[in-house]
Amino acid sequence: MSGETTDDSVLIAGAGPVGMTTALALHARGVDATILEAESEDRDRSGSRAIYVHGSTLRTLERVSPGLGADLVEEGVVWPTRRTCWRGKEVFSRTYDSPGGHGEIPHFTSVPQVRTEEYMHEALDEAGIDIHWDAGVETVESTAEGVRVETADGREWETPYLVGADGGGSTVRSEIGANFEGDQSENSFIVADVDEIEEDPRPLERLFHYDDPSVGGRNVLLVPFSGGWRLDIQCLGDDDAEELSSDGQMREFVRTVMGERYVDNITWVSTYKFLQVMADTFVDEHRRVLLAGEAAHLLAPFGARGMNSGIADADEAASAVAVALRSRTDGVARDEVELYGARREKAAKYNLEAAGQALEYLQGEDPETVLRKEAAAAIADYFEPAGEYLDDAPYGPHGAPPIVTTGNY
Ligand SMILES: Cc1cc2nc3c(=O)[nH]c(=O)nc-3n(C[C@H](O)[C@H](O)[C@H](O)COP(=O)(O)OP(=O)(O)OC[C@H]3O[C@@H](n4cnc5c(N)ncnc54)[C@H](O)[C@@H]3O)c2cc1C
Repeated sequence: MSGETTDDSVLIAGAGPVGMTTALALHARGVDATILEAESEDRDRSGSRAIYVHGSTLRTLERVSPGLGADLVEEGVVWPTRRTCWRGKEVFSRTYDSPGGHGEIPHFTSVPQVRTEEYMHEALDEAGIDIHWDAGVETVESTAEGVRVETADGREWETPYLVGADGGGSTVRSEIGANFEGDQSENSFIVADVDEIEEDPRPLERLFHYDDPSVGGRNVLLVPFSGGWRLDIQCLGDDDAEELSSDGQMREFVRTVMGERYVDNITWVSTYKFLQVMADTFVDEHRRVLLAGEAAHLLAPFGARGMNSGIADADEAASAVAVALRSRTDGVARDEVELYGARREKAAKYNLEAAGQALEYLQGEDPETVLRKEAAAAIADYFEPAGEYLDDAPYGPHGAPPIVTTGNY
């Protein structure tokens, strides 16, 4: 095995959006970073994943890599209309003159994750940050002095700190002895991406349809993003998700919900049961390894907290590591990493609960929730807040996690 020393370069496992943001956020703080990625450089990252990017995430990206947030704003779509239907009838619709607000960074933008990642790769190139491809992390050994890592290409690395941003199946997580705890959504969801068509006639709106009679009484969510549409169909309890996501059936869903002209534009279909889990610790016992993004938590996507909170983890992990590296005492360095764990575990709990509330609401088993929805739908015509409740509730609460100023109390 050939040895390799990375001096003071901080290692990051995973070149997903969280690993790449961690590298950019370290670079912005004057710390060298190196990314170790399991897959090959020519991999295909297409597929239905994050589209909704919160304004706070755009601001973080702009702060750690000037121009990156702005690029996403330019690329993304800010839809002006939100609309909700209940069993075939509209119960709420609102169109905003300035849906993104009045600042340079809008409240949100909608851009496919594959494009977000392309912009991140460009930013890494500009910053001179290397990705070592085909270099999946296989073993992690941490001590009070630093971390030793072995990768699949037979190399051995030494680093003062390792950030595990290696996704839901994280090797770094299992190597530090952390475990996922939580549960899984009951129903399945079918998620499809559909390319936009020329002179797209669809209004630029986010549409939620409760118990849509045209698709067998299933909930339907349709969201625009730059270049296309995300169609999300919530299966009923006894549905066979695999059968429903077959080519013929998906064409039928798209024909019914969107129109004949979109049928040949389906680019990606996946089925999910969403996990709602977080690691029992985000840092190792020596405070040298930090978990971030899906290595640390998996959230149902309602409320769009997955990548958004992962990018917040990345920024805070970089901040903790940068301070720890400059610390004159081991105790202060340790505290910084510990504080990272405390803050982001608390944030993850909050995000899990928020995504869980959305999931609970959508799966609709709880009689009180069912009754509240029915009542709201019955009065929505003449009481707008009831319609607004129906429009808002599928995404869970709006709040952001409380900021923890110290992990000591
Ligand atoms: C249908 C759907 C819709 C979603 N919508 C949204 C949304 O609108 N907004 C939002 O914020 N989030 C959304 N998400 C969640 C978002 O996609 C994820 O949170 C995000 O991809 C997590 O990024 P990550 O970098 O942590 O992990 P990943 O994207 O999984 O990246 C991990 C990286 O680590 C690499 N890797 C794996 N093992 C190793 C190893 N041993 N060593 C080195 N590298 C390794 C992988 O190859 C990969 O490159 C959605 C998810 C789904 C499924």
